[in-house]
Amino acid sequence: MLNQVRHGERMRQAMSLFDLTGKVALVTGANTGIGQGIAVALAGAGADIAAAGRSPADGTVDKVRGLGRKGENFVADLSSVGAVQPLVDAVLAEFGRIDILVNNAGIIRRADAVDFTEEDWDAVMDTNLKTLFFLCQSVGRHMIARIEKEGGSGKIINIASMLTFQGGIRVPSYTASKSGVGGLTKLLANEWAAKGVQVNAIAPGYIATNNTAALQADETRNRQIMERIPAGRWGDPADIGGAAVFLASPASDYVQGHILAVDGGWLAR
Ligand code: NAP
Repeated sequence: MLNQVRHGERMRQAMSLFDLTGKVALVTGANTGIGQGIAVALAGAGADIAAAGRSPADGTVDKVRGLGRKGENFVADLSSVGAVQPLVDAVLAEFGRIDILVNNAGIIRRADAVDFTEEDWDAVMDTNLKTLFFLCQSVGRHMIARIEKEGGSGKIINIASMLTFQGGIRVPSYTASKSGVGGLTKLLANEWAAKGVQVNAIAPGYIATNNTAALQADETRNRQIMERIPAGRWGDPADIGGAAVFLASPASDYVQGHILAVDGGWLAR
């Protein structure tokens, strides 16, 4: 009986480490794929969700509300920095605070390096890196001011990639942008750790989403990719949710500037 009580107490302590009740999370690119997987996982842990993206995230918001949390849509085209401050202002007006920022919105353009266009360079760098930095800046300012006033914490999670560590092929601007995301994550962690804001990244492996539809459809590339994944399968957006809850929660309070690979073992090969 005593053992059961102790076990129950330990379970409660373990669960509270991952509890996000009362927290507000702004998730970009939340209508589909990894963004949806993360938003639903954060809501499952108790967070309210501001779902931002260029298309309304109705399906995600429905799932969040189904979990008993508040979920609202914020339509914002994050291909230009001009969208950042109006988005942050709108989320603060609706929710009053932002405790967690997940910079997930991103695009990819594929072409041989010899043919790669400036348009494809700029489009990817603007959305994946420039807007990501200025969203970190805007939300970081809010978090730092709030923490100075009332204590608490701020958690920023940037979505990196295997190409934060590797070169990839036929995706020069994507590789440059995701390598940049890794560097910025560490820089911001260095500047903001002492102010109570944690900045970390998740590097997903090969996850079955719109972003990787071309690779999944290419029989040869699909086989090559599958052969290298020790887990023996493509990842599912829900596979990223646990890492996001960890990095958003008190369980990771001493984790700073880390890039957490969730890749079925890809990098271990
Ligand atoms: P996805 O299904 O294509 O999702 C991308 C999300 O970003 C969508 O919600 C998309 O909105 C949004 N987005 C794109 N451009 C935007 C813009 N200008 N303004 C606002 N939102 C915009 O792909 P995903 O795989 O889930 O990708 C999510 C993130 O994970 C990206 O940063 C990607 O680079 C990264 N990632 C993916 C993989 C993978 O294997 N899938 C691996 C490593 C990293 P729309 O639906 O309206 O276009």
